[in-house]
Amino acid sequence: MDSSPCSPPPAPAPARAHDPRKAEFETNKLRKRLRRLVGQAIADYAMIEPGDRVMVCLSGGKDSHGLLDILLTLKDAAPVRFEVIAVNLDQKQPGFPADVLPRYLAERGVPFRIEEQDTYSVVKRLIPEGGTMCSLCSRLRRGVLYRVAGEIGATKIALGHHRDDLMATFFLNLFFGGKLKTMPPKLVSDDGRNVVIRPLCYVRERDLARYAEAMAFPIIPCTLCGSQEHLQRKQVSAMLREWEKRHVGRLDSIFSALGTVTPSHLLDRTLYDFAAVRATGREETDGDTAFDVDRALEDAIERAAQVPAAGEGNSAPITVHTRD
Ligand code: SF4
Repeated sequence: MDSSPCSPPPAPAPARAHDPRKAEFETNKLRKRLRRLVGQAIADYAMIEPGDRVMVCLSGGKDSHGLLDILLTLKDAAPVRFEVIAVNLDQKQPGFPADVLPRYLAERGVPFRIEEQDTYSVVKRLIPEGGTMCSLCSRLRRGVLYRVAGEIGATKIALGHHRDDLMATFFLNLFFGGKLKTMPPKLVSDDGRNVVIRPLCYVRERDLARYAEAMAFPIIPCTLCGSQEHLQRKQVSAMLREWEKRHVGRLDSIFSALGTVTPSHLLDRTLYDFAAVRATGREETDGDTAFDVDRALEDAIERAAQVPAAGEGNSAPITVHTRD
């Protein structure tokens, strides 16, 4: 469970291998990759510290199931001691299978809490028929989760947003919000009392879909409320999937850019003191190549031009713009 609208449906997972030994081998390989990426994200952003009690928000979707499973396996192997508690919010949506998660969690021996709160009726009452419910639903859910975190003494709240969520949010902010921002891997909650972490921030959605299928997690769909996924989010996710199919490496480059920001080469005066820029008389090794082309960028563009886009014989000619 996360505090934002439910994730869009993933691209179909590749067909599973029929040979059981091969299937097991593939699942182990995938688990190792997920563990490595989650471990790396935790280390890079100092997400979990010794003694932490991590509350995993479990909606029953593939992402939160994957998050819980990987954190549990890391907990057993990590040199750092921390606890994991799964929390599910039963929002009283019609048809919610309330017994599924408690049974699964009890069978796995995972400490858990099921919080029952009828946010569904509140949303239905306040949002006119046909309106988008996700925003209010998320806000109500967030409030409940923050409260529960305090009650169980959680020091971190882990959400199941993955790399594709971060990129889609980045483009939604870019296209509609006029901001360069996305969901951060770690932040202080808006009530100032909780630290929220996103350990799946390096993990691709399609890997989570494959893992959920291989592990046969008991998935609860996020369509019980009858709300439609936000159209713009749907379109941005489709755009990213299309890029992934047609342009090798484009999403990797975008994701890398999210972690490689150069404030002096953007326009935000609050991040960089442009008024203080002066000629120093010294050579600046990391300074701007004000009149030259950016060699690294040019090389990357040339490399991309060598790879024909999927479905095309030749890639389109690329014009390199220089700044002089
Ligand atoms: S309204 Fe429905 S789809 Fe939207 S966030 Fe709430 S549960 Fe998910």
